[in-house]
Amino acid sequence: MLNCNCIFCKIIGGEIPSAKVYEDDLMLVFKDIEPKAKVHLLAVPKTHFALLSQADAEGKEMLWHILEKIPGVASQNGCGNGYRLVINQGEDAGQTVHHLHVHILGGETLGW
Ligand code: 5GP
Ligand code: ZN
Repeated sequence: MLNCNCIFCKIIGGEIPSAKVYEDDLMLVFKDIEPKAKVHLLAVPKTHFALLSQADAEGKEMLWHILEKIPGVASQNGCGNGYRLVINQGEDAGQTVHHLHVHILGGETLGW
């Protein structure tokens, strides 16, 4: 999003580099800079919205698209044996980047 001071919008716009693993018109998937598992990817909608509760009809369509693409992207990136999806929403969940994103964690047996 132009003139948006959001780190993920800057990654989407190419202003900040990232290790991209998948991209299409609606979404981008890149490697988390501080991986919490052997494979840790972030799937983000290209349209900025901060919270699940702020997703309008377009946002919901985008989210559904992301969920449809994740199984293929995950299995092509070392998560063929399973993976965990996480969305941190708000302060209590520890959300640090206020651009909705789905964490894809895998590549190893995950504990809690
Ligand atoms: P949250 O805590 O908001 O759910 O997750 C934000 C995630 O974004 C964190 O796992 C953090 O490591 C990742 N992150 C923050 N800044 C950057 C960045 O500049 N590049 C990449 N690739 N990941 C980032
Ligand atoms: Zn953003």
